[in-house]
Amino acid sequence: MSVFGLTGGIGAGKSTVAGMFQDSGIPVVLADDVGRQVVSAGSQGLSAVVALFGEDVLDSAGSLDRRKLGGIIFNDPAKRAQLEGILHPLVRDRSRELFVQLKDAGNSVIVYESALLFETKRDAEMMGVILVTASEADRIARVQERDGSYESDVRRRIQAQIAEEEKRERCDYIIENDGDILGLKSQVADLITHLIQRSD
Ligand code: ADP
Repeated sequence: MSVFGLTGGIGAGKSTVAGMFQDSGIPVVLADDVGRQVVSAGSQGLSAVVALFGEDVLDSAGSLDRRKLGGIIFNDPAKRAQLEGILHPLVRDRSRELFVQLKDAGNSVIVYESALLFETKRDAEMMGVILVTASEADRIARVQERDGSYESDVRRRIQAQIAEEEKRERCDYIIENDGDILGLKSQVADLITHLIQRSD
């Protein structure tokens, strides 16, 4: 199956590139969306999270309060690892189901967008990995503009991810997002032509 991973550090432009793929008719499965689905209200995933963290992580409607959960794992690496032990296999299985559905629906190229593609070891199952990259200064400025985040917070999030140099070595395609949006679009268009040729 021709699933290509799309990754890159925070602020590199993954979501922007994912949108360009979608505009060209290539379906994109977003790891973040899948991550929300697997702990939706009433899901087995949510029960497992509650079993680990208690009912405190639920809001009044019985849904996961992500902010509260984030607060708990922020300073507790052991708890974070336990949470990831629940979530990552669920995300993996659900995303694979979605890939099969999309393939059966006639899509020859499918893209899986995940900020943590390498960290979660999902790169191994991809036909190829696309890295979107930009300088750290650009990434910080873009995220600050996008979310109003503090620079120190963006830097902390960058440091929690695998270094850009390592990702460059491990990917198959690089999109340099260091220019304007038109330049980005043209790189994505060239890549799509190539991926369609490569797909089985
Ligand atoms: P990621 O998903 O990798 O965190 P985004 O795609 O959300 O990154 O991009 C971060 C921000 O930068 C967004 O607000 C996006 O619109 C903007 N952006 C992305 N690429 C460019 C570019 N080439 N020029 C200007 N702004 C950009």
